Amino acid sequence: MKKRIALLGASGSIGQQTIDVISQHPDLFELVSFGVGRRIEEARGILEQFDVPVFAVQREEDAELLAAEYPDKTILCGDSGLIEIAKGEYDVLVNALVGFAGFAPTLAAIQSDHDVALANKETLVCGGELINRELALHGRTLVPIDSEHSAIFQCLQGNRMRQVKRLIVTASGGSFRNKTREELQSVTVEEALAHPNWSMGAKITIDSATMMNKGFEVTEAHWLFNVPFEQIDVLMHPESIVHSMVEYIDKSVMAQMGTPDMRLPIQYALSWPDRLELDEPPLDLAAVGTLHFAEPDFERFPLLALAYETGKKGGNLSAVMNAANEVANAAFRNHEIAFPMIEEIVISAVHEAEFEELRSAEDLYRANAWGDAYARERIRNIN
Ligand code: NAD
Ligand code: MG
Repeated sequence: MKKRIALLGASGSIGQQTIDVISQHPDLFELVSFGVGRRIEEARGILEQFDVPVFAVQREEDAELLAAEYPDKTILCGDSGLIEIAKGEYDVLVNALVGFAGFAPTLAAIQSDHDVALANKETLVCGGELINRELALHGRTLVPIDSEHSAIFQCLQGNRMRQVKRLIVTASGGSFRNKTREELQSVTVEEALAHPNWSMGAKITIDSATMMNKGFEVTEAHWLFNVPFEQIDVLMHPESIVHSMVEYIDKSVMAQMGTPDMRLPIQYALSWPDRLELDEPPLDLAAVGTLHFAEPDFERFPLLALAYETGKKGGNLSAVMNAANEVANAAFRNHEIAFPMIEEIVISAVHEAEFEELRSAEDLYRANAWGDAYARERIRNIN
């Protein structure tokens, strides 16, 4: 029996690589529904390759346009379209949406008794507690696609969770890892978008440059593996060859290595515990020669420190942090604010937010709206 896959964010970086993985294993995987945002050309491309009966687009005018081209397909649109896909008929949802928009579809998928392969880390950063509650309630699994978490997941296979001493999340340091804080004042969007090791979507590439992304990943690891923040460390590793590690109580350290290619973690999330062939040149460690490791500098990267702080305090704070970051990240990309303002806006949002417990999805939507409004107001006052 083929694994039936629903894919949200199909036009993005992870989405397109998921399409590639699916097309390499037509005997194992079947794309049964998908969602794209505004890039409807990508939808046409997918429909040329696969006979998919249902898909979603973001805008109504695009849905109408495509309805004329594909009269035999069910075409959904807007946020409700994503939810409908998530509630549909399939075996695993690959959530490759970017940002908080990914939360509601993840929740809907689990609540309608589906397993999830998750690239959308914002889901867990904001609502990890709610997601874990629903996973337990519905007896469903959520497997990571993020490379660090896939590495940890792989290092945990065959071992016992209670014998884990700590998780070690590796970090490249992003585009500005060799710049001082003073030098950050004048960096450009183009420079920020040039990641040294990985080719990714624009938002996460900026999040890597501020290391907000690594802070998110620490939080993501906390909820995925149920490990306290005190037992999750970040280790700088500029080569991005060791994707992360697990240290056990006997001091044995398991590491997962590979070339920086997201198709491996995507494929593993769909095939585990099996492994499948991947058309990728093997890792040549002799050619790499040397691997470097160093402690992270929390003063150089204050958003990494902030994520630990919000994670340990819990409640609404990580959601506020995420929402403010989403707005500030986009404003930087739109040339509305300077790079260091991202940090300033996100930090002040968290410090000015009133602490609240997250009891329900409604509480979470309120926290997100607050952080979003706060950041927008700050940016309005700057300009
Ligand atoms: P991307 O910007 O390339 O793609 C995002 C996708 O989401 C696009 O298809 C876009 O159309 C869709 N989308 C966004 N908002 C939408 C909305 N409201 N309605 C419908 N569609 C919407 O992003 P990406 O780099 O592929 O990242 C996706 C997720 O995976 C992010 O959470 C990111 O942090 C995570 N991630 C990405 C990588 C990577 O290598 N790109 C690695 C690890 C984790
Ligand atoms: Mg990652």
